[in-house]
Amino acid sequence: MKRDQEIFDLIEKEHQRQLKGIELIASENFVSDDVMKAMGSCLTNKYAEGYPGKRYYGGCEVVDEVETLAIERVKKLFGAEFANVQPHSGAQANAAVLLAVLKPGDTFMGLNLAHGGHLSHGSAVNTSGILYKAVGYDLNKETGRVDYDQMERLAVEHKPKLIIGGGSAYSREWDYKRMREIADKVGALLMIDMAHPAGLIAAGLLDNPVKYAHIVTSTTHKTLRGPRGGIILIGKDFENPWGLKTPKGEIKMMSQLLNSAVFPGTQGGPLEHVIAAKAVAFAEALQPEFKEWAMQVKKNAAVLAEELVKRGFTIVSGGTDNHSMLVDLRSKYPDLTGKVAEKALVAADITVNKNMVPFDTRSAFQTSGIRLGTPAITTRGAKEDLMRTIAELIEEVLNNPENEQVIADVRSRVNEIMKEYPIFAY
Ligand code: PLP
Repeated sequence: MKRDQEIFDLIEKEHQRQLKGIELIASENFVSDDVMKAMGSCLTNKYAEGYPGKRYYGGCEVVDEVETLAIERVKKLFGAEFANVQPHSGAQANAAVLLAVLKPGDTFMGLNLAHGGHLSHGSAVNTSGILYKAVGYDLNKETGRVDYDQMERLAVEHKPKLIIGGGSAYSREWDYKRMREIADKVGALLMIDMAHPAGLIAAGLLDNPVKYAHIVTSTTHKTLRGPRGGIILIGKDFENPWGLKTPKGEIKMMSQLLNSAVFPGTQGGPLEHVIAAKAVAFAEALQPEFKEWAMQVKKNAAVLAEELVKRGFTIVSGGTDNHSMLVDLRSKYPDLTGKVAEKALVAADITVNKNMVPFDTRSAFQTSGIRLGTPAITTRGAKEDLMRTIAELIEEVLNNPENEQVIADVRSRVNEIMKEYPIFAY
């Protein structure tokens, strides 16, 4: 068969884009060659509905070993007692948990999307908000941090069956202990979605929600530096004292409920090539070098935030405890939207995403903020000195977002700088 040159040319074009630019999207990263190889392997040819040892297809002996290794490795990484490594994505993992522990119409709580929560935590356009009654909690306007007092008040008022913690644009540590106390007070389950900081948690640099929450979900492709995908973990709450039932009306242990909610509840055949790549990434995250990398991610984020503040930018909550930060553009550039800022920076080969800031006065399409993160640039070897340069380049572009000459000059500086920061060989 003739090679599909059209697609392979586009893949190479994207490869060049990634090579030349400064990648600051907080949810992105560069996987290792081995993770990439596992994803592009013959395991993609295999159907394996079910779980290791209990499949609906023949010939699953090898993928059973692959999936078992992935499960054992991720349990070790986070000190979990149970893991499901099949969710195709973070949103799928969250949808499966909601299916397992809620009935349509049940109430649950999550961080408001406009305050840094994720779509799958109760947005009106996501199944989480369509099938269930979602109550959003907010950040405190003064501190830019989660308002746990409001969370407690809302929990007492609405009696949710589930409280979700974690978000997509929150740069501070979470108080999981307080959240568990609030959940216990109202008889709710606690689920933490650690998708963003999972790699820093694996490295022991942030508190581990597996110690506090009934259920923990994550993506595997952000700070965890694996393939695109999701996972579900349980610390010790296997039991089901809440009498939760499967859609068929059976009462099962929590781990069984979660497994059934992933398959057959929300998915068909697992992506065993991606599960193999997850296993490779988990093994990498268990190595001492991963901890060093994660420490550098955190240091780089702190320095980037500091440098931006020095230049008059406002960071929501004043700084960062993790890999990310949310820049509120309004104080420095009252007329500049996140949309225009993103476009100008992308034109200069500095990739960021526009993001609403808490209590934003603009819509989700315009926004007053941009979100920045350091995982991807740190994987390319960046240290604190490059963060200072990046802050300077960002300011130069945003001072002149319509000036094509300035943007072209910054772009050539960016392309020159990035020649010094190799990407993996693929
Ligand atoms: N949960 C959180 C906190 C996220 O930030 C994201 C993605 O950005 C997701 C879930 C969804 O992950 P995915 O895009 O893999 O569905």
